[in-house]
Amino acid sequence: MSTVRGLLGLAAGLDSDSAALDAEVLLCHCLDKPRSWLYTWPEKNVDPAIEARYRELMARRAAGHPVAHLTGRRDFWSLELEVTADTLIPRPDTETLVAWALELPLPDIARVADLGTGSGAIALALATERPRWAVTATDASAAALAVAGRNAERLCPGRVRLLEGSWFAPLAGERFDLVVSNPPYVEAGDRHLARGDVRFEPRSALAAGPEGLDDLSHIARNAPAYILPGGYLLLEHGCDQGEPVRALLRQAGFEAVNTRRDLGGLERITGG
Ligand code: GLN
Repeated sequence: MSTVRGLLGLAAGLDSDSAALDAEVLLCHCLDKPRSWLYTWPEKNVDPAIEARYRELMARRAAGHPVAHLTGRRDFWSLELEVTADTLIPRPDTETLVAWALELPLPDIARVADLGTGSGAIALALATERPRWAVTATDASAAALAVAGRNAERLCPGRVRLLEGSWFAPLAGERFDLVVSNPPYVEAGDRHLARGDVRFEPRSALAAGPEGLDDLSHIARNAPAYILPGGYLLLEHGCDQGEPVRALLRQAGFEAVNTRRDLGGLERITGG
């Protein structure tokens, strides 16, 4: 039988920037306890069945699987979301987009669309923060929409309309006060895609043509037909794509285009 402290020591076998945290999160997941419990009971013996489960998850983590896939959960904004291999794992960078959306001078009952919603992260954060907004989320992947649907059902039932289809395709004839999206924006040949956790995430949620701009450009070009007068478009993008994305928005006719930086100080969200 091993102690909590002994099992956390398995972190030494992980090749991860967050090895100690990964081990804590996985052990807590198996124990069904909060992380503070680990610090209160470091010498406690762990039940052998739980230890076996934890060792199995640590072995999969060592093979590169993201922690969020092993627990099936990821915190985003104030929400705990279910995530699977069918969706991008929500990143803290995207919370910058949510914070910006909540600052915009929008009508009380704003109509909002989140394109390529994945797990539903942005749509659900906005719907829970603004109970009067009418939020619609689209995704081309039925498997991703199923995950978003389960998250919506658990976190704010009946609040988000989920539609299957690519970007604006399911929204023909509709107009919104705010359109938001975190589309794929990584260059198709980027070595980043071959390393670490992203290998286990859907390529369709990450890669977007030779310069990573294919989907950003499609959304920017088509957005004006779906945005009400005085409405806004906010797009997440790569940290070196601020300039081209500002140009895409200006070409599409958006005014007062500017960019916000993420928590790491990198250009991440452009809006107009
Ligand atoms: N920021 C993510 C990454 O670098 C990419 C997210 C996206 O393409 N929308 O892994």
